[in-house]
Amino acid sequence: MTSLEDLPIRDDLRGRAPYGAPQKAVPVALNVNENTHPIPENVAHDVVARVAAAIMTLNRYPDREFSALRQALADYLGHGLDPAQIWAANGSNEVLQHIMQAYGGPGRSALGFAPTYSMYGLLASGTGTEWITAGRDDEFELSPATAVAAVREHDPDIVLLCAPNNPTGTPLSIETIEAVADAARGIVVVDEAYFEFAEPGTPSALTLLAGRPRLLVSRTMSKAFAFAGARVGYLAGDPAAIDALRLVRLPYHLSALTQAAALGALAHSDEMLAMVDEIRGQRERISGELARLGFLPYRSGSNFVLFGGVDDPRAVFEQLLARGILIREIGIPGHLRVTAGTEAETTAFLEAIAVSAPNRI
Ligand code: PMP
Repeated sequence: MTSLEDLPIRDDLRGRAPYGAPQKAVPVALNVNENTHPIPENVAHDVVARVAAAIMTLNRYPDREFSALRQALADYLGHGLDPAQIWAANGSNEVLQHIMQAYGGPGRSALGFAPTYSMYGLLASGTGTEWITAGRDDEFELSPATAVAAVREHDPDIVLLCAPNNPTGTPLSIETIEAVADAARGIVVVDEAYFEFAEPGTPSALTLLAGRPRLLVSRTMSKAFAFAGARVGYLAGDPAAIDALRLVRLPYHLSALTQAAALGALAHSDEMLAMVDEIRGQRERISGELARLGFLPYRSGSNFVLFGGVDDPRAVFEQLLARGILIREIGIPGHLRVTAGTEAETTAFLEAIAVSAPNRI
């Protein structure tokens, strides 16, 4: 059998592992931070109707500049944004890849604060960008001083700030974002994939865009918006900074079906986001209950909870899986991560984890 070793693969990709969240058909999947509530039926009907209409013109290429989608995303984000300040792609992963392609590359570097979203390092390596990680403060928090010191030390071409951070769930203060944006020489990306789950009233990095042409704020329809399968992520920033991404994207990267589906979902954004408060409530329930059981949950502004105090994460992961509940081992010793699901899914998780609790009561 041919192995990778036999192939003329790039040296810098040898020995690397692909993104690898397990995909298993289980009754309770709480491992990739999706919105586990199905999309409302009336929205589904509207999306189907729009996709059906788009099918009639699939003989033609789609709108390469996805103008209607840009307008709808600008309207959804508010903050006075206009379509020229919006970019979109097949998931925010692709948005981030476009940024790495345009602003990173050989001889350039990107900085993140570990532990953080595992795709950042993979996207960096895929684009030949050097990936540098700096540390965080206690409890995985990130203060302005710690973040700025790392930016000064490494002087990266791109800084990736994950707000709230995956896999820790920790919110990132607007003060840290502002301090990094002002200290960095290069592009500063604020990945707000989980922003809609933050405490109401939390300021978005979108409020910092004016006058900062190197600041980019990415979002996704995969999480709060309950649209992960459609693969739609997007970005807000300065029109020129956005325009640069057109140099690296593939022509017609957003299919007519994707654009139609996304427009359908955005036309019902209130309904698509209706479960966000409920999910936030389940997240609080998970944190409270895990602490009561003797685990060590971290502060979360997202739809998931990272918790420590797990003697044998592999064994707990397997015990839960045996009961049809899939959560996530994220490679931090003594820790596991779980997504806040529906009330019933959350109950199933909490009942199952109670069996492995460190201080059972
Ligand atoms: N950013 C973060 C922090 C994420 O956790 C994820 C998904 N796990 C993404 C970006 C990418 O999501 P998508 O490509 O589905 O938009």
